Order: sequence, then C-alpha cells, then structure tokens
Amino acid sequence: MQKWKCTVCGYIHSGDEPPDVCPVCGADRSKFVPIEDAPERLHEQASRPSAPQEPPAKQAPPPNVPPPEAGWKRFAASRFGQKLTQYHGHPIAVHIPNGVLPLAVLFALLSALFDSESLAIAAQYNIGFVAISMPVVIGTGIVDWINSYKGRMTRIFRVKMICAAIVSVISLVLMIWGFVQPQIYHRHLIETWAFLLLHLGNLVAATIAGWYGGKLVFRK
Ligand code: FE
Repeated sequence: MQKWKCTVCGYIHSGDEPPDVCPVCGADRSKFVPIEDAPERLHEQASRPSAPQEPPAKQAPPPNVPPPEAGWKRFAASRFGQKLTQYHGHPIAVHIPNGVLPLAVLFALLSALFDSESLAIAAQYNIGFVAISMPVVIGTGIVDWINSYKGRMTRIFRVKMICAAIVSVISLVLMIWGFVQPQIYHRHLIETWAFLLLHLGNLVAATIAGWYGGKLVFRK
C-alpha cells in the first residue's frame, strides 16, 4: 500500500490517497509527500495471492515508542489541562525563558570579555531563571502534545523533547557552576571556554526547539 508522509510533523499515513488533514498536526493534504516502497516489497506485493483478503488491521502506533504516561494523560484530560491547551499555556510558558536565555548567553560572553562583575551577576540570574522555569515549559508542552497532537511520537516531537531536555540540563549545570565557582565568569582558563560553549549550546538547542515549534504552528 502507498505510504504518505506529513512534511510538517512526520506522521506516516497508509492509503492510496493522502488524508485531507493530518490527524497529528492538522496540516492539509498538500503537505503530504509519497514515500516510495522498496522494489522488493513491491515485487512481494505483486506476487502475493489476492484472495482471501483479510480486513485491514487497526493501525499500530510507531514501534519503540512508549505511550505517554497514564498520569500525564489524566492530567492533560483534566479541566486544568484542557484550559492550559485552550489558553495556549505552552507557547506562553516557552516565550518567557526563551526571551531570557539569549540574554544569559550575551551577558556571560560580555562579562568574560570585559571582566565585568555586574554582567556576570546578570548572566547568573538570567540562567537561573531559565533553569527554574524549564519544568513549566516541559509540563505544558507534554499537555499540549497529548491534547493537540494525540501524544504521537513523530520526529518533530522527539527533537523538541530532546532539545528541551538539553536546555534543562545545561541551564541547571550553568546555574550551579556559576554559583559554586563565581570566578568562572572572569577567569580566562580552559574551563571558562567550556562554560561559554555550554551557554552557546544552550542557545542552539533552544533555537532548534523554537524552529520546530514554529513549523507546527505555521505548518510550513
Ligand atoms: Fe502532520
């Protein structure tokens, strides 16, 4: 059977025609592209006896993907979870630390460049704010993923979750590192470079997550 892939979210549809609307992200049929079957498989299909035909099996979820935790499903289905999705809780939660994260990177770079105590303090507070706000970003994201996208683990959601985990871990490490060793902002040692590179990595991960979020929202 012909397979079609949603170019927005990566959902795979089996059928002669693409669906009118992607059941995961809501993209229209123009966003689906055919996936070519391997030649051996086509040959195998052609040589298979045509009768008797079994009724089509219920579409199984993608392999190696555990279903969303029951606890999260219950929370997403609750009145509060529904309101979070209805009032765009995740985009709101994301935009707050996303506005602060680039400032943390900028202040950390400038504090190293100009050996400035006040810029170091600004960077430290900003990265701390990002670290403590990430659980809200991830929690609202999971609720939105279950309520709006049926909890389907396509490539786009996998990448977004990995990026969110990277930002959470790096922000926490940077916050603790700056707290335990405040001189890291000023000392021009090999570890200062590692510290600044982690800041830049954080910015890259947040940018990738934001880019995929935009892809889902604007379906382009
Ligand atoms: Fe889709």
